[in-house]
Amino acid sequence: LMHLTRKLIEIRSMLLSIDQSDSLKLPSIVVIGSQSSGKSSVLEAIVGHEFLPKGNNMVTRRPIELTLVHTPAKNDGKTPDEYGEFPALGLGKITNFSNIQQTLTDLNLAVPPTEAVSNDPIDLRIYSPNVPDLTLIDLPGYVQISSLDQPETLKEKIAGLCDRYIREPNIILAVCAADVDLANSPALRASRKVDPLGLRTIGVITKMDLVPPEQGAGILAGNRYPLHLGYVGVVAKSSGKKARNESTGAVARRSENDYFGAHREQFGGTSSLMVGTDTLRRRLMEVLESSMASSLHGITNAVQLELEEATYQFKVQYNDRRVTAESYVAEAVDTLKARFKDFTVQFRKPQVRAKLKAMLDDKVMDVLEQLYWLDKRAPELGTLAADPKLKPEEVEPYWRHKLEAASSLLTKSGVGRDSTLLVADGLRALIDSIAAGEPFTFHPRAAERLIQFSHMILRDRIGVTSDQVENCIKPFKYEVDVDEREWEIGRGRAVELFENEMAMCEGKLRDIRKKVGGSRRLSGLMGYVKDLEDKAREKKNKRLAGGEEDQIEEDPESYRYPPAQILDARHAMLYSDRLSILKLRLAALKSKRCRAGPESDVLCPEAFLNVVADKLAYTSAMFINIELLDHFFYQFPREIDSRLLYDLDRSEIIEFARENPVIKKHLDLQERKDKLEEVMKQLNSLSTLRADSQPSPRRQ
Ligand code: GDP
Repeated sequence: LMHLTRKLIEIRSMLLSIDQSDSLKLPSIVVIGSQSSGKSSVLEAIVGHEFLPKGNNMVTRRPIELTLVHTPAKNDGKTPDEYGEFPALGLGKITNFSNIQQTLTDLNLAVPPTEAVSNDPIDLRIYSPNVPDLTLIDLPGYVQISSLDQPETLKEKIAGLCDRYIREPNIILAVCAADVDLANSPALRASRKVDPLGLRTIGVITKMDLVPPEQGAGILAGNRYPLHLGYVGVVAKSSGKKARNESTGAVARRSENDYFGAHREQFGGTSSLMVGTDTLRRRLMEVLESSMASSLHGITNAVQLELEEATYQFKVQYNDRRVTAESYVAEAVDTLKARFKDFTVQFRKPQVRAKLKAMLDDKVMDVLEQLYWLDKRAPELGTLAADPKLKPEEVEPYWRHKLEAASSLLTKSGVGRDSTLLVADGLRALIDSIAAGEPFTFHPRAAERLIQFSHMILRDRIGVTSDQVENCIKPFKYEVDVDEREWEIGRGRAVELFENEMAMCEGKLRDIRKKVGGSRRLSGLMGYVKDLEDKAREKKNKRLAGGEEDQIEEDPESYRYPPAQILDARHAMLYSDRLSILKLRLAALKSKRCRAGPESDVLCPEAFLNVVADKLAYTSAMFINIELLDHFFYQFPREIDSRLLYDLDRSEIIEFARENPVIKKHLDLQERKDKLEEVMKQLNSLSTLRADSQPSPRRQ
């Protein structure tokens, strides 16, 4: 029947991992006692090693779920005979028990002092040929006197924690010192509250060596406070000299044997009192086993019910569809790649060329503004274009220089850098939008990584690409050949741009007119501002001519309009000036002269520059495609694989999948169902085992 306890201990751990509700709990032995009652010494005597935190101020601050697993002794040197494990910490096998002690101390100290004790149990398993199969829960010792450095509430907190654990079906191991009156034992008091008949309480009387043997035997007889499961007396202190190679456990056992051996008449023979750590262990095993056996039926039913519910929910909610963290990750990656591919359409050559052309169109307008529209002689150019007799070569060199300046301003404006950055920014925005969408909304760290590595690929290529583009547009800096067809397209495009620009200016004027209150009001304002400007110019000229300093007198007129409207008027004047020059230039662009072809370039700079912009856009798009886009589109999906997927170990994949609440819920239910199924299978196998090994109960 040894087998049963062991199996049930395993099942108990599995149930604990399914949920913490009381309905799914198999019994464990809960160790309670006041501070210094000898609780630690008893636990260490059972285990045969010192492993619990010691020290003046060191009280247990978290429950320790101690699972003892009996292992057959092995001497092949491969498996350590005795070791501990903290499954939640993943530290592996710890063969040195003082390391276990240190780890427990660290875990204790990690509880913030403001909390004093924590409900979160520490899971510790000890494997040894010298331990029985048992589960014990070590709880913080009851505090008798509140001391200064312990918070007031500590006493109640500990009592509350103990209360939770001493509930059914657990067995209570009440530790009391022989030299303290049992009436004063907080452990017995707590146990009596939940188990008045002492049906599931074992008393352990420590420090038997500190009272006269007769008195000790009297306590163990249990006449004053009878416990159904009885009292066991121990001497758990390791006193006496340690022989070489002798373990702490062996020393303790020896001194205990010495003591009870020396008082055989009180404790031995017919007295039938239970004494000694070995007896205690045996007793604990018996009690745990019978308690587990009697819980078996109830727990089997409870698990069956939970399993039915989980199976039903799994069917209803997910139609029995299973997911794995791996399949979820793979799906997420596929979605990501597919979405990326959809988006790349925006980065085909014609699309990129159109984007670059739009950017260069802006540049062309800037150049025109700077060199032509602000030039007072600009209207002359229209007159020249309108003269049918004028031969292009007769046009003043002034205009030829101007065209060359304009062209080189455009070609030397940093087209390589600007066009590369424009495309790179587009890619970045694309990645950022993918990273901001589902499923990455659930995976902020993965989104961060995605952004990081894609920006890195881009950063790596930007320099090379922009140099390459700059290099390839170099010829245009010296000479641009334009054929008839290109000219006509450029001219058409320039007409379009001018019409847009004019529409924009007209729109702005309309807005201002509405804002100041009608066109009459606006022309009033504009006339007024023009006056002001004329006067200011006059004054300045006078000053420059060396006239005497004017009295600075406030012009009463300047209060006629609010300053905001004066500003509006100034803007309106700029727009209408701009409109009139645009109108002139548009007429020229549409004239016979400009239609004639590229030989009119000096007279129609807009058409010419448009052709240049077109050529720049074409060349840039080509090399950006080769140097930047091709590389990026090749590398990006590969980086997704290597940095988002293959990089993750199993636990990270699970963590990733669980970041998505929908998947987490699905996985949780699925795992719950799986575990319950497994527990059910084990429980069923146990029932058959029991049925085989036990005589069938008598029928009435
Ligand atoms: P805990 O605070 O309840 O865990 O108590 P400890 O196990 O730390 O024991 C408190 C003190 O009592 C320690 O100094 C132990 O050495 C001592 N002690 C424990 N058991 C015995 C015992 O059986 N006999 C004697 N003489 N001292 C003991």
